[in-house]
Amino acid sequence: MKLQQVIINTDVLIIGGGCAGSMAAICIKDAAPNLNVCIMEKGHIKRSGSVTMGMDALNVAVIPGISTPEEYLETVKKKCWGIMDYFPNYTLAIKSFELLKTLESWGVFFPKNEDGNYNIMQVDTSGKFCVGMDEPDLKPIMEKKIREAKIDVLNKTMGTKLIVKNGKILGAVGLNINNGQVVCCKAKCVILANGSASRFGLPNTGYLYGTFDFPGNAGDGFALAYRAGAKITGMEFTLKYALVKDLNIPLIYIVLTRGGEVVNGSGEVIVDKNNLSIFLIVEALENRKGPLFLKTDHLSKEKIMEIENILFSTERPMQRRYWELKDIKFGRDLIELNLTEAQLCGGHGISGIVINEQSHTNIKGLFAAGDVSSVPMQHLTGAFVYGKIAGESAIEYCNNGNFPENHKDIHWEFDAELSHLGSLLNLTKNNTIQPTTFEYKLRRIINEYLLSPKNSSSLKKGLSLIYELREQLPYQVLAKNFHELSKVLEIGYILDCAQMSAISSLTRKESRWGCIHRRSDYPDTDDVNWLKHIDLQVGQTYPETDIYLREIQRGDGE
Ligand SMILES: Cc1cc2nc3c(=O)[nH]c(=O)nc-3n(C[C@H](O)[C@H](O)[C@H](O)COP(=O)(O)OP(=O)(O)OC[C@H]3O[C@@H](n4cnc5c(N)ncnc54)[C@H](O)[C@@H]3O)c2cc1C
Repeated sequence: MKLQQVIINTDVLIIGGGCAGSMAAICIKDAAPNLNVCIMEKGHIKRSGSVTMGMDALNVAVIPGISTPEEYLETVKKKCWGIMDYFPNYTLAIKSFELLKTLESWGVFFPKNEDGNYNIMQVDTSGKFCVGMDEPDLKPIMEKKIREAKIDVLNKTMGTKLIVKNGKILGAVGLNINNGQVVCCKAKCVILANGSASRFGLPNTGYLYGTFDFPGNAGDGFALAYRAGAKITGMEFTLKYALVKDLNIPLIYIVLTRGGEVVNGSGEVIVDKNNLSIFLIVEALENRKGPLFLKTDHLSKEKIMEIENILFSTERPMQRRYWELKDIKFGRDLIELNLTEAQLCGGHGISGIVINEQSHTNIKGLFAAGDVSSVPMQHLTGAFVYGKIAGESAIEYCNNGNFPENHKDIHWEFDAELSHLGSLLNLTKNNTIQPTTFEYKLRRIINEYLLSPKNSSSLKKGLSLIYELREQLPYQVLAKNFHELSKVLEIGYILDCAQMSAISSLTRKESRWGCIHRRSDYPDTDDVNWLKHIDLQVGQTYPETDIYLREIQRGDGE
């Protein structure tokens, strides 16, 4: 079993074909058809990423006459407890309505009421920013546009390394996990759009891939960027959601905005549509005030049909089979909720690559968009808006940059990555541990030592175990084929994320965001010293980490 090297050339390489990557590609081809665009996608672009098929809402839409960018900024600031920069979120807000209109022009369906108004839901206490969408085919619509624009898509190809010299991107390497082709891609610029660190904490089921977010995202983007020298922020924000127990599928917003309630064992209402705070649900579960249930038996038949319609078509159709197998019926039975595994994400949380409002990272020619980048709570809207912005920045960079035909170091870098990958595949007989077993152990350690309640000794213990696992990985884990090789690489990404998370959590000597970062040795929130970002960057030698504290960027008049 041997890896085969192929060398390709493109203008813009996009790593990750989810919503952000697809949007970037479509926008580049639209505005600059002469540029060559290539997408490396680990799965298959038609169904990969957080949106495997459709989605029921755009969580951020600032619609003129309904809400203002300022109201939106206040809401996000509250949710992030102040840890957010003004301009990236402001840009998201002002471009969100235009984005909605673009999607509509592509045929994405946003239902309207009899008065011709969008279905706007109140999911935040201050302001209405969530717009109902009913589009089971969102991902296929984008994939069709990509095919029509004749954009090169390398499916089943995972980015394994960014090539950077003197602070400037030269290309990247990808591995085809089916046939072992190592694609060495020279590119003028690269857009990283490869999602969150979804496979981080271990779900309560113990099932490695039973995660809330797309399990193909193992923090690849965070790790590739970190290794290349990009700055990563907010890694202490170890986020858990409250979803359907064991199934790990969302429905709280969908059900609560239509009149459902979350109740505890004695029937006491914890949250309803007048008091819709996911935070309250998470806190109650985290503080062992559960079990909590979703209650719908008071809703009309029409409402139940409306809910089922969304859940069983747009969001995750396999829910229907799950409820049928369990003999659970909406409108009749209580549905138990539980906390998900912890994840790191720039879409639902604040973790990710540091970017500015033009999607620039600190590396020349490297842009980032979507869940891999830190634009706090940007959700799907952010993936689209920043996908487009990254595309525009890439066009500008290609048009203005100076690109020597053949950088002398690039072939050396390609060969080095080829032999690194080969060394992980051609393992000795001493390597006996399955990648899944090793990953299970690592993610159990994350659960035990890196999550709230955190304290200095648990985090230090966790960190030392992570360093031990790093040493063991190449000598113990067996990769018998290309697919298993990809799993070994993913473990490396999870290790990077775990290390960064432990270091950030150790650095933030305060408690913030409730149970997301609760330090038992520093129980109070300390705005005087800690109302700031914690950024990480690879040190002199990987995996060493340098830590930087960065001031919050305020807007005009703040
Ligand atoms: C269950 C669920 C429900 C949600 N509901 C809503 C909602 O109702 N409204 C809303 O606004 N937002 C919602 N979101 C959030 C929203 O879906 C995401 O923020 C958004 O889709 C992120 O897009 P992305 O392109 O950044 O990442 P993704 O869509 O996850 O795409 C990342 C892509 O990168 C690929 N990839 C990963 N690693 C590599 C690699 N090494 N090389 C190549 N490719 C790689 C993956 O295969 C994937 O295709 C929801 C998210 C989830 C998980």
